[in-house]
Amino acid sequence: MTGAGGQQSAKSILVKTADEIKIMQDANQIVAETLSMLLDITEPGITTFELDKMAEELCLKRNSVPAFKGYHGFPSSLCVSINEEVVHGIPSRKRKLKKGDILSVDFGVRYKGFYGDSAVTIPVGNIKKPVQDLLRVTKESLMLAIEQVVPGNRIADISRAVQNHAEKHGFSIVRQFVGHGIGASLHEGPEVPNFVSKGQTPRLIEGMVVAIEPMVNLGTHKVQVLRDGWTVITADKKVSAHFEHSVAVTANGPLVLSARDNFTDK
Ligand code: MG
Ligand code: MG
Repeated sequence: MTGAGGQQSAKSILVKTADEIKIMQDANQIVAETLSMLLDITEPGITTFELDKMAEELCLKRNSVPAFKGYHGFPSSLCVSINEEVVHGIPSRKRKLKKGDILSVDFGVRYKGFYGDSAVTIPVGNIKKPVQDLLRVTKESLMLAIEQVVPGNRIADISRAVQNHAEKHGFSIVRQFVGHGIGASLHEGPEVPNFVSKGQTPRLIEGMVVAIEPMVNLGTHKVQVLRDGWTVITADKKVSAHFEHSVAVTANGPLVLSARDNFTDK
């Protein structure tokens, strides 16, 4: 799940011990396993309600708690955002996936007092060429951003990596929602925007953990929230992609806590 931009500046940045990062890795690996399962089973005809149930069941089986259910009143375990939906879509019994759709699934768990958070956009059957490019470029922008997660760099280095890569390919960056620090809270400081703005951003220090989550649009960067109070859609109804990893800052460089074997497939 994403943070709302501009509202977290007061939240403090917490540094984690090695033991806490190990727990966060375990939490994020439950998320990774769940996203891998969703990558495998997503196909035309399945409902987003079914995907939500399966994600929740696996999470509970791993002795963790779905992090989004009940978060500020969000009704489900999984955020499911189809095509022009950017983030925070609500699973539905009525919504069946169709060939050519893209589905962003965003999942989080709480495990032993710490959170994991990761997201992937899944093509449903064959998708059109510009949409394939959007998914590839968004994924690449996340990987380039992760390379910036080293002690001494600043949050702006992460933001710049995403923005430069996405905009170079003619896509646009969502500004209203941003990545975030993560730990014993789902959303904590610092904010991790996917675009650079004026002013100095926090320096990365060993033990910080950030959820980096580019939301990249085919058309305009502008978004709006539907009347359900949650679902964010693009203002021009063109498609949007979302990928997210939770990443720890270590002396040895970035440690991707939510790493999956099948990150690059589909
Ligand atoms: Mg998320
Ligand atoms: Mg997040």
